[in-house]
Amino acid sequence: MHSSAPQQQTPYPHLFSPIRIGTHDLKNRIVMGSMHTRLEHLDRPLERQVAFYTARAKGGVALIISGGHAPNSAGLMEPGAPILNDRAELYTHRAITEAVHANGAKMLLQIIHAGRNARQKALVGASAIKSPIYPFTPRALTSAEVESTIDDFVRCAELATEGGYDGIEIMGSEGYLINQFTVPRTNDRTDRWGGSLENRLRFPTEIVQRIRCSRGRDFIIMFRISALDLVEGGATADEIDALAQAVEAAGADVLNTGIGWHESAVPTIAYPVPRAAWGFATKRLKNVVKIPVIASNRINTPEVAEDLIATGDADLVSMARPMLADPQFAAKARDGCRDDINVCIACNQACLDYIFTTRVATCLVNPKAGREIEFNNDAPNRLLRLAVVGSGPAGMAAAINAACRGHTVTLFEADASTGGQLNLASRVPGKSEFKELIRYFNRQLVTSGVTVRTGTRASAQQLKADGFDHVVVATGVKPRVPLIDGINHRKVVMYNDLLMGRANAGSAVAIIGAGGIGYDIAEYLTAGSEEQNSETFLAEWGVDSTIRLAGGLGHRTDADRSRSVTLLQRSEGRMGERLGRTTGWILRSQLKRRGLRTIAGCQYISIGDEGLTILADGKTQTIAADTIIICAGQDSNRELADELAGTGVSFDVIGGADYAAELDALRAIDQGTRLAYRL
Ligand code: NAP
Ligand code: SF4
Repeated sequence: MHSSAPQQQTPYPHLFSPIRIGTHDLKNRIVMGSMHTRLEHLDRPLERQVAFYTARAKGGVALIISGGHAPNSAGLMEPGAPILNDRAELYTHRAITEAVHANGAKMLLQIIHAGRNARQKALVGASAIKSPIYPFTPRALTSAEVESTIDDFVRCAELATEGGYDGIEIMGSEGYLINQFTVPRTNDRTDRWGGSLENRLRFPTEIVQRIRCSRGRDFIIMFRISALDLVEGGATADEIDALAQAVEAAGADVLNTGIGWHESAVPTIAYPVPRAAWGFATKRLKNVVKIPVIASNRINTPEVAEDLIATGDADLVSMARPMLADPQFAAKARDGCRDDINVCIACNQACLDYIFTTRVATCLVNPKAGREIEFNNDAPNRLLRLAVVGSGPAGMAAAINAACRGHTVTLFEADASTGGQLNLASRVPGKSEFKELIRYFNRQLVTSGVTVRTGTRASAQQLKADGFDHVVVATGVKPRVPLIDGINHRKVVMYNDLLMGRANAGSAVAIIGAGGIGYDIAEYLTAGSEEQNSETFLAEWGVDSTIRLAGGLGHRTDADRSRSVTLLQRSEGRMGERLGRTTGWILRSQLKRRGLRTIAGCQYISIGDEGLTILADGKTQTIAADTIIICAGQDSNRELADELAGTGVSFDVIGGADYAAELDALRAIDQGTRLAYRL
């Protein structure tokens, strides 16, 4: 069926062995998964999309899957979402597929019918059952409309051929329309499209069969199956296997896998999910079909991908966000340059959080993602001797990009090591992926030729005396110390001292400040000291890997409540409101289970031997805490900027030193990178 002979010249021989999909040969096992980017909403959209996909094809992936396109207007995810139902836009598809083919990759069009997962009012579903997380109730398709929807899938596949695609991916997972037909949770129909398992599987099966019939043997049909629904009323293992076998028999060439519905209460791709945690679901499917099976979700390094294939858990791997983080992922892995890979840290901050708030996707660790045409590679007008002061994310991004453009760069860091606030983030349980970012930056500092002077506090006088042409001030932030009576009490600990191991917390803790760091500290104090592995993660979230019960949901292990933690903020309203859109709920849900107490709208009165005294709901109360941790935001560290102002040295200020409020690594890296392209 396909070659499984490992290739020897690379450290990842299984990952880089060829494989046959239908009648097509793929050069390796890496698939770039479909991503909804909204790139078509920025100016010069075609140029952007061509640049985006070209960079990924050049970067060595074997197969690229386009963003999802609706087969008809009822299937749109939102007003203005991509659709392919006539020839008018085919020229854009041809431009993209030609560029991808010219750079050695194959490409499929993803056809997605959102069904009830839509933010547009003309939505339809298998039944008129509203999603708990989408705003509108769908209208149930009539039997005749089910037939015409299948015709629209076939028509879309025909247009995909004309658009130059090698085939299509049919989106059958994540709770979209096809998935809505296959499970009782969303299908209470009484016609031939509902009721028995055979009836519920008819919609996907007919779609595959009729597309195969229309497109012939050489057209790749990939079916994205929900390998695990993670919702009540979802499929059991037997039902998933039956669907896999049905679409295989109907003519699918390859199965891609999706994990969880959008409304699932179990995280599936964000940073708390251990790498390759869902391998078991793909492995199961491999035992029931003969066609290749693709693993997806939380596969972000070549060694994880290699392992999945070498152990036989999957035939290929799909990576989507890792291709935002580093378009050259595949080529670097193939050539043994693992250290040069900019690894996706699963933060979701600039990809999914942007998409779910109607912005255009990019990437925290790679601000050029989706913005390729905004960074020109022309040489600077004048090459500078540049000093960058501060090696947090803003400073490192500025130094590396400036050096890559030809400037001579010295990076000063007062601490013994580089990384700044990233070092704190990487110590939060579940956020160890941040270590990959520090590793990547450190490697890039070496390869780009930046001179790094750690343990050196740069002064304005010294910088002037050294004759630098320009200084970039990236001196970061200082934790804010709030004016509370008793703030110098021995019970008070600053968050950075706790995370860096310079201070400890007792068993009864009050946290002042409920921003991102207050929540991270609550996680740090309650999560236990061991980094989670797949087994403990699945047990904690009640995932039954045998999928005997509907949706694969089982019993959750009891949460550890041995430490009492109270999280406080002065403002009224919902706590944790500004946490990430697609990750905040995970933190809130875990902390609730572990008994976190939250108090909003309070006033801090004093800190003393008894604990923290506050005024809340008009009453004074004392929280009997043995440790009070301060997470009250940060102020800019502008001392150097102020000193430089009087010296005549030309300088820029970036990152937290520029503006501390709501600073995160996303803004810091973006600002540092963009400045380097202006110098
Ligand atoms: P933050 O989000 O601005 O929160 C600061 C907290 O301190 C707020 O709860 C604020 O609430 C309180 N506060 C401010 N001034 C205070 C004062 N004088 N006295 C007492 N309380 C005060 O800052 P952060 O938590 O330090 O986070 C810094 C940045 O890192 C944020 O922009 C955040 O986006 C980012 N970050 C993000 C994540 C994430 O999960 N994505 C995680 C960590 C950090 P009240 O004013 O209502 O008391
Ligand atoms: Fe990965 Fe975060 Fe970049 Fe998204 S924003 S691709 S999750 S690193």
